[in-house]
Amino acid sequence: MSKTSKEKKHMDSVAQLGCIACAKLGWYDSPAELHHIKDKTGMGRRSSHFEVIPLCYVHHRGEWGYHTSPAEFNGTYGSQRELLEQTLEALSIEGCKCGCTTKKGAVDKTNPFSGANLFWE
Ligand SMILES: [Zn+2]
Ligand SMILES: [Zn+2]
Ligand SMILES: [Zn+2]
Repeated sequence: MSKTSKEKKHMDSVAQLGCIACAKLGWYDSPAELHHIKDKTGMGRRSSHFEVIPLCYVHHRGEWGYHTSPAEFNGTYGSQRELLEQTLEALSIEGCKCGCTTKKGAVDKTNPFSGANLFWE
């Protein structure tokens, strides 16, 4: 099945956030590729095209990449599910082009990676 235009807009918005792993290291706006998360535990309400996080080449397939060493990556940057939640929170700040964030609404203020601590644009 091909991607719908809504899924395409969502994936574009995610990519424009910049690499989420780089952001945790203080490097913002790293050009990102899309990584489909593998952890399917828990929530099943989103289609797979919404289960993507932004990772740069190095953090995706490169030396420090998830696909190079998943356990090490998750230990350093957090679980795939946590990173997805942080990605969706980041999207909700400026609003996702696909419209998914207008329904989602509030950003979780207790997450240190949300709100004022986000510097990517
Ligand atoms: Zn969206
Ligand atoms: Zn990165
Ligand atoms: Zn990937």
